[in-house]
Amino acid sequence: MKEFDAVIIGAGACGLMCSVQAGLLGKRTLLIERNDKPGAKILISGGGRCNFTNIYTSTDNFVSENPKFLNAVFAQWTVDDTINFFENFGNISGQEKTLGQLFPTSNKAKDVVAVFTKLMFDTGQDLMLNTLVKALDKSDDGYIVKLEKDGKESLISAKKVVLATGGLPVAKLGASDFALRIAKKYDLRIVETAPALVPLTITGKDADWYASLAGNSVFSRVYNDKISFEENILFTHWGLSGPAILQISSYWKPGQDFTIDLLPKFKLENLIKEERNLGGKRTVGQLLNDYFTKKMVEALGQFLPIHLKIASLSKADAKQIIDFIHKFKVKPAGDKGYDKAEVMRGGIATDELNPKTLESKKCKGMYFGGEAVDITGWLGGYNFQWAWAAGYAIAQDL
Ligand SMILES: Cc1cc2nc3c(=O)[nH]c(=O)nc-3n(C[C@H](O)[C@H](O)[C@H](O)COP(=O)(O)OP(=O)(O)OC[C@H]3O[C@@H](n4cnc5c(N)ncnc54)[C@H](O)[C@@H]3O)c2cc1C
Repeated sequence: MKEFDAVIIGAGACGLMCSVQAGLLGKRTLLIERNDKPGAKILISGGGRCNFTNIYTSTDNFVSENPKFLNAVFAQWTVDDTINFFENFGNISGQEKTLGQLFPTSNKAKDVVAVFTKLMFDTGQDLMLNTLVKALDKSDDGYIVKLEKDGKESLISAKKVVLATGGLPVAKLGASDFALRIAKKYDLRIVETAPALVPLTITGKDADWYASLAGNSVFSRVYNDKISFEENILFTHWGLSGPAILQISSYWKPGQDFTIDLLPKFKLENLIKEERNLGGKRTVGQLLNDYFTKKMVEALGQFLPIHLKIASLSKADAKQIIDFIHKFKVKPAGDKGYDKAEVMRGGIATDELNPKTLESKKCKGMYFGGEAVDITGWLGGYNFQWAWAAGYAIAQDL
């Protein structure tokens, strides 16, 4: 029977990094994955191109009860470490697409996964695919892991176990609540979970208005009292999507609203003034047409006097137009759920874990990393940076 220093459950970003880093330290791990291949989410990430880190990563880019918890892990594994790792072991150099987001120059997520499978092989790590971990129990000197493969159950004992089973989004890619179940079983506190980086739905009287704009994308500033994001929003048949909406969704809860500045690079008040100085002969619609699609201006016409000449606008008319464009209020009905979410918010509370090693304070030898933990990154490569760093930090302690 083979002896392992640790059993790692989940061959996603965190589990793969943990296994290879343990391997580079001369340790032996068994990585267990329910899917028929490792890294299912890495493969589809960033539209198949994998936004593997963000050069601007800091604790400010994460939603958590305690984002500062990240300091001890990020001190061990930095963005440069991620870049060097992929360069050295996979000949992958990163190209920045936008806002610090790095993608492999090949644009192929499979190149990222290949780095791990090769390193696992080179360092003699074991990978069991098509294997579901069904249960985890404490034993006298560690843990008993209950597996199911090809309909047959078996047990493996391990001194140390790593729960890198990810979050709840996208069940068809293997997502499970396994880490949350084990945390509950051993009385570890869980921060309430919810879909994050997720499109938001609009119902009720405004639904048709949003649907009429489906496909229109508008560069906007989306904000609430906590945070603000300047990126595109996308109108859809059921509500709103696009990067700025996904970002704010991580800070949104049902019942809350947020505001969209539809023209963040300009002050409409000044544009109206300039137009007036020119005689104000153009209509509001003609002015808005300089900045929005025809379709959008038509839709705005349902609320705004787009046929009025600028010269004839009253103060109240101008204020209504300015407020509408710069302070467009949105109260979503809900979100599109875990199947359309990129990540899960919440998870195992950080105060249950040793900040340096990510070992459970209550269960020695049990580690949690990646999306299962109450650390949720913004859109833009931050989630992978956390998953790689967590995998590295855990590996140092196995
Ligand atoms: C569509 C999409 C695009 C994304 N794009 C990006 C991006 O470009 N950049 C970025 O930073 N983030 C991106 N993310 C988020 C990122 O994929 C996750 O945050 C990251 O994969 C989390 O890593 P993890 O190792 O914690 O979990 P995962 O990568 O989800 O891995 C967990 C693994 O555990 C396995 N597993 C679960 N339960 C069991 C069990 N009981 N037994 C055996 N195996 C089990 C699962 O099958 C899975 O393979 C994207 C997410 C989605 C859904």
